[in-house]
Amino acid sequence: MSTVPPAGPDYDVIVVGAGYSGLYLLHQLRSRGRSVRVLEAADGVGGTWYWNRYPGARCDIESVEYAFSFSEELDKEWRWNERYSAQPDILAYLNTVADKFDLRRDIQVNTTVSSAGYDEAAHRWRLVTQDGERLSAQFCVMATGCLSKPKTPDIAGLDSFAGPTYYTSSWPHEGVDFTGQRVGVIGTGSSGVQAIPLIAEQAAHLHVFQRTANYIVPAHNHQLTDEDQTQEELAARRSNALDCPLGVAFEAGELNQLPAMELTAEQREAEFERLWRRGGLIMMLAFPDLLLEGEANEAAAAFLRKKIKEKVPDPAVAEILIPKGFPVGSKRLCVDTNYYETFNRDNVTLVDLTATPIDRVTPAGVRTSPVETELDALVMATGFDAMTGALAAIDIRGRGGVALSQAWAEGPRTYLGLSVAGFPNLFTVTGPGSPSVLSNMRLSIEQHVRWISDCIEYLAEHRIASIEATAAAQESWVAHAAEVAAPTVYPRGASWYTGANVPGKARVFMPYIGGVPAYREACEKEADEGYRGFALTPA
Ligand code: FAD
Ligand code: NAP
Repeated sequence: MSTVPPAGPDYDVIVVGAGYSGLYLLHQLRSRGRSVRVLEAADGVGGTWYWNRYPGARCDIESVEYAFSFSEELDKEWRWNERYSAQPDILAYLNTVADKFDLRRDIQVNTTVSSAGYDEAAHRWRLVTQDGERLSAQFCVMATGCLSKPKTPDIAGLDSFAGPTYYTSSWPHEGVDFTGQRVGVIGTGSSGVQAIPLIAEQAAHLHVFQRTANYIVPAHNHQLTDEDQTQEELAARRSNALDCPLGVAFEAGELNQLPAMELTAEQREAEFERLWRRGGLIMMLAFPDLLLEGEANEAAAAFLRKKIKEKVPDPAVAEILIPKGFPVGSKRLCVDTNYYETFNRDNVTLVDLTATPIDRVTPAGVRTSPVETELDALVMATGFDAMTGALAAIDIRGRGGVALSQAWAEGPRTYLGLSVAGFPNLFTVTGPGSPSVLSNMRLSIEQHVRWISDCIEYLAEHRIASIEATAAAQESWVAHAAEVAAPTVYPRGASWYTGANVPGKARVFMPYIGGVPAYREACEKEADEGYRGFALTPA
């Protein structure tokens, strides 16, 4: 019996975060008889879709594939209006999920977890919130999100700006009216690419401060009908998605299987054009060798450069918008609606920060050498401390009081992106080392939630007090993940995938690129063989 008194209320499982992951975890674990408490920093559920309310925010995985797949009843009750739904619709959907499955009674909002320490003698996690509340549980699941910790931009004078500064990652709930204003947007990743066209329509003048031009494909968003989301259609898509490396649906024969250079230049062009017209991230799968460095990738880059020149008649502006110095896909591909066309407007100025870097933000605006652009409002679309940021913000201590930040000083190391050696009974959803952000996140979240729930049920049935990834299994998985990533373009880009966007962060390619099917197989094997990559301690 433990000599450590239980600190605060005690649960089977504490889940941190109430986005897609936290909501589904609660539903799964509770329906298997576990006592669960979900702790969420925001004052509502939805995670990403609670926080990112900027104009233009929408998914870039098709709505019907981004919807949960676990309830036919939910499928029948919910209708998506658009191919790529806007943030208010996705947030409304997640709120509907919370209500339909009666989740709110076990979710504690306005609660930020500041520390989590493992009590080895009692086999329990002790959590402390920012308000000093203490809770404990046998298992702690971090559903804290991969893109939930906004990055603090390293721009001098940011606090000195006299007007309002808005972050896309924590946009005001009441919205912002830019009518008649001179607005500056810093950042041209996916968030900036979505927000810029809509802000330009409202502002008197918009200045876009671009450091890196990204590769962008069109969304070709459109309204959906009931026929687009019948149960048969949903079932077919879900089944197809399971076989796709990115976890998105495509029909048999829809994708070309030949390496790019085995086709003629005309055939390659026709294939790119076909996928461009289809719209969305499927462009990444145009050729099986597209994501390897070399001619196929360069062919894709040439095609995308040509499209920019077609859309932007001013050659000087088009040249600035052309991505340079990194392969297609090594930084996350953006999906747009009217992005390039926005730079043809008279009220939009593109500032090339590679030619004139930001010197500092001043009370009046942004000073790039040698001019000062006067602004009424500033929008920061500057991204996230991805994959590890939300975990690093919590003081997580495992066996022997070792801090996770210490264990990950040279980059995150996990077994299957689910578990960390030295941190028993702790699980991460879509953690580093899993397909995560390289996949349809809904699909990967569901797979992780089921794996974790099955595992916790197995441990209860077998009266196991603790489970912990072995150092050997972890090292072998980390080596395998690095090996499959090595020939691809992914480790090359100065992207958030590699931590390069956060000064001082270890440079490691964090997600698992081996693909959704191979990854799922590895997880299933682990469970089927009785968790051989883990040390299990009997109760
Ligand atoms: P999140 O939704 O990030 O939720 C994590 C929650 O944990 C947050 O609510 C946060 O407040 C809470 N939290 C974190 N730390 C603490 C703490 N210490 N204490 C208490 N609570 C805490 N993916 C796709 O597959 N398709 C898309 O189209 C897509 N579009 C995206 C658009 C945007 C603008 C962004 C930023 C991301 C997008 N993503 C997309 C990725 C998206 O994050 C995932 O699809 C999914 O929403 C993640 O769900 P989650 O529950 O794992 O994490
Ligand atoms: P991001 O891709 O990291 O983009 C951040 C942008 O800010 C980059 O253009 C970056 O330039 C710029 N930036 C950062 N610091 C800067 C500085 N100090 N000075 C000048 N520029 C600076 O972040 P994001 O756009 O928020 O997207 C993050 C991820 O969230 C996406 O990749 C995607 O996975 C997801 N997302 C998806 C959607 C969607 O379409 N559904 C929408 C939004 C987000 P550099 O590149 O030069 O660093």
